[in-house]
Amino acid sequence: MKALDELTFDNRFARLGDAFSTHVLPEPIDRPRLVVASPAAMALLDLDPEVAQSPVFAELFGGHKLWAEAEPRAMVYSGHQFGSYNPQLGDGRGLLLGEVYNAAGEHWDLHLKGAGQTPYSRMGDGRAVLRSSIREFLASEALHALGIPTTRALCVIGSDTPVWREKQERAAMLLRMSPSHVRFGHFEYFYYTKRPEQQKQLGEHVLAMHFPACLEQPEPYLAMFREVVERNAELIAKWQAYGFCHGVMNTDNMSILGVTFDFGPFAFLDDFDAHFICNHSDDQGRYSFSNQVPIGQWNLSALAQALTPFISVEALRETLGLFLPLFQAHYLDLMRRRLGLTSAEDEDQKLVERLLQLMQGSSVDYSLFFRHLGDESAELAVARLRDDFVDRQGFDAWADLYKARVARDPVQGQELRRERMHAVNPLYILRNYLAQKAIDAAEQGDYSEVRRLHAVLSKPFEQQAVMDSYAERPPEWGKHLEISCSS
Ligand code: AMP
Ligand code: MG
Repeated sequence: MKALDELTFDNRFARLGDAFSTHVLPEPIDRPRLVVASPAAMALLDLDPEVAQSPVFAELFGGHKLWAEAEPRAMVYSGHQFGSYNPQLGDGRGLLLGEVYNAAGEHWDLHLKGAGQTPYSRMGDGRAVLRSSIREFLASEALHALGIPTTRALCVIGSDTPVWREKQERAAMLLRMSPSHVRFGHFEYFYYTKRPEQQKQLGEHVLAMHFPACLEQPEPYLAMFREVVERNAELIAKWQAYGFCHGVMNTDNMSILGVTFDFGPFAFLDDFDAHFICNHSDDQGRYSFSNQVPIGQWNLSALAQALTPFISVEALRETLGLFLPLFQAHYLDLMRRRLGLTSAEDEDQKLVERLLQLMQGSSVDYSLFFRHLGDESAELAVARLRDDFVDRQGFDAWADLYKARVARDPVQGQELRRERMHAVNPLYILRNYLAQKAIDAAEQGDYSEVRRLHAVLSKPFEQQAVMDSYAERPPEWGKHLEISCSS
């Protein structure tokens, strides 16, 4: 276990030089204090969880102090936002403080979000509000606990610094961690500004640091692109299987590592709705829940365009063609498991599709449906769940198919079934209304609910003895919360 001053830095991205990032110092926030810290994320840096309580922790992650070996940099990138190319992006309010490596030799970027203005701030104030910082913290750590690849969050530091959004709010900082902060938009930036030398330097850096196995392949860039396609297919399959809606899948919010990245107005589905739009400024529904799959492919094709200096168009096209079949395979595998099936049959896809059709327009809580399906035998569970469906006859027909399918599964036994299903079907998810209750208290200076919710969500599959029921369906008001996109 390390103390805070024992972190070891190795700032590989900073060493790429000024074409890739600009040196900027964090601007401190007033009266920095710990809102919440993640012991699991601290463990990735070998940090003793106790150090989060020390004043110096809040000072470091509130922009007041810096390690001598840190080299804070604002990264430059561009990207496609809502389908249109924006050449003017970059870290407008976040700084890569440096890269820390742990005892296992893993490097972690320390990225401080809300650290003040940079050359890429455009009209922005460089700040992040408490509300959005808490949401990103909770979502990062909750997704990780669900087994969904994501950037991590070390802590949120609150302050007295006023910031203006729709109303006056308080500034906060979030310390985000990831093995890399390189986005699709990094490659697009050097491609569209026609700087092949620097694009190559970036490509070689990413290959050497994050895809070393691809360097052994005859065409390393193609092998890397293939892996990015594979990772995104798997990531988006997990989002779809668990009802996670990212909300702003612009290419500058897509990680080259295929992890969930840059949280804005995201949401987990409460009642199932394939057309759900969590971002209230997304009028066209470009990033609606079901569109995440074609948009994932669209984003990969934007990355492919930026990689044309390194890879032939035919090879890129062929590799892009892997996305949908890979997505389908991962998705179906996850959904089979959510249904408690241990084997594959040709008709399983139809079984899943039909279930979702029946859920659409009913008031079926997407997460709890699967959880409760595993509570009892298939026979008893479907009998209990049918009341939430509008088309009960349709559901009964589905239930007959499902019971017959369960009876054909090679692994039988109710105890095993419950265990297997509960291990993949969470009891607790980050519902918007739960986040909102924690945020309302935090805005009044009470951080206990944020901490409690974080603790509950860090074990989403285990029934926990908590006073309030975090596992309940949302109240009516909680289903229709308008989550502001300002952050
Ligand atoms: P986002 O919607 O958070 O992914 O941000 C899109 C772009 O706007 C990124 O380049 C951000 O750095 C920048 N940005 C967002 N909010 C601010 C802010 N308050 N101040 C400066 N830049 C910002
Ligand atoms: Mg972003």
